[in-house]
Amino acid sequence: MTRPPTALVTGAAGQDGSYLVERLVADGYAVHGLVRPGTAYPWPVPTTEGAGSTGSLTLHEVDVADLAGLGGAIDEVEPDEIHNLAGVSSVARSWADPVGTARVTGVAAVEVLTRALALQERTGRQVRVLQASSAEIFGEPVHSPQTEATPIRPVSPYGAAKALAHHSVDVFRRRGLFAASAILYNHESPRRPTTFVTRKITTGVARIAREGGGTLALGNLDARRDWGWAPDHVDAMVRAIRHDEPDDFVVATGEAHSVRDFVALAFRCAGVEDWEQHVVIDPAHLRPVDPSVLVGDPRHAERVLGWRRTHDFAKTVAAMVFHDLQDGSTG
Ligand code: GDP
Repeated sequence: MTRPPTALVTGAAGQDGSYLVERLVADGYAVHGLVRPGTAYPWPVPTTEGAGSTGSLTLHEVDVADLAGLGGAIDEVEPDEIHNLAGVSSVARSWADPVGTARVTGVAAVEVLTRALALQERTGRQVRVLQASSAEIFGEPVHSPQTEATPIRPVSPYGAAKALAHHSVDVFRRRGLFAASAILYNHESPRRPTTFVTRKITTGVARIAREGGGTLALGNLDARRDWGWAPDHVDAMVRAIRHDEPDDFVVATGEAHSVRDFVALAFRCAGVEDWEQHVVIDPAHLRPVDPSVLVGDPRHAERVLGWRRTHDFAKTVAAMVFHDLQDGSTG
């Protein structure tokens, strides 16, 4: 029996990991998802119906900070593809633990690349790696929008750790490994934790609409982000790892919107017109330093990968609000 295409996904229980796992299982992959020890998989486990389907998901409890455990999983699974999505996902939190961030977001990626190259050399089979890179590698760029050629100059421990991973992708690519990176700008969905402002807003709006009143406490309403739709960004990652040549791709919408725009639209989607009555500014949510506005130019991904986003800003906001109105999530 020939073995199905096999993929190893780190960060499988996260927002992006879960969408990616579903996509790969549907495409017939034997997917091996790494999840942090002791955490239950928080999403429905995808199944493939019908005879002949080879798609499956196997979960492995491995902390990627445990490099021996991470390398051991790669050696055991012998994947054709590795999607490295694990990492601390918050710039703000990376200041609380710069060393832990460096290990999980930076050094673990170097371990993935090292083991992938060793596996390829040992088996003679091509091993492909997709690194989930981040706009935060650009820090405070002098030009906007950013492209794949924008200088890498991070300004946070998170950005610095992602920069190590990003540079390492290029280094290993030069050694003959198929290593691609998707330089991801913010991307949201109903699976975003409420620690991120978008989901905090949509769960809060759903609560206020349901209860006919109440308030939502926020920080800087003037902060702006290039907010995309997470399944679209996952689609770009899949296209990048399946492309003929490994390359770097900015994955972004090319537009920035303010937190204020997001809030106003979210309330409107829920049928609440007087949104200003329901929002209070709480200084506790203001950040000492809010990073500069990052906006990405996705034309390279569009041209080379044929990538197109399915959700613009308004559709992303609406999809999240409607989900939370139906779901009864409270924020
Ligand atoms: P980030 O891009 O990874 O920092 O994503 P976040 O969703 O956490 O933050 C996006 C922007 O929203 C930042 O500029 C925050 O300052 C701003 N913001 C305003 N109010 C809030 C809030 O109540 N919570 C969070 N998380 N961010 C807020």
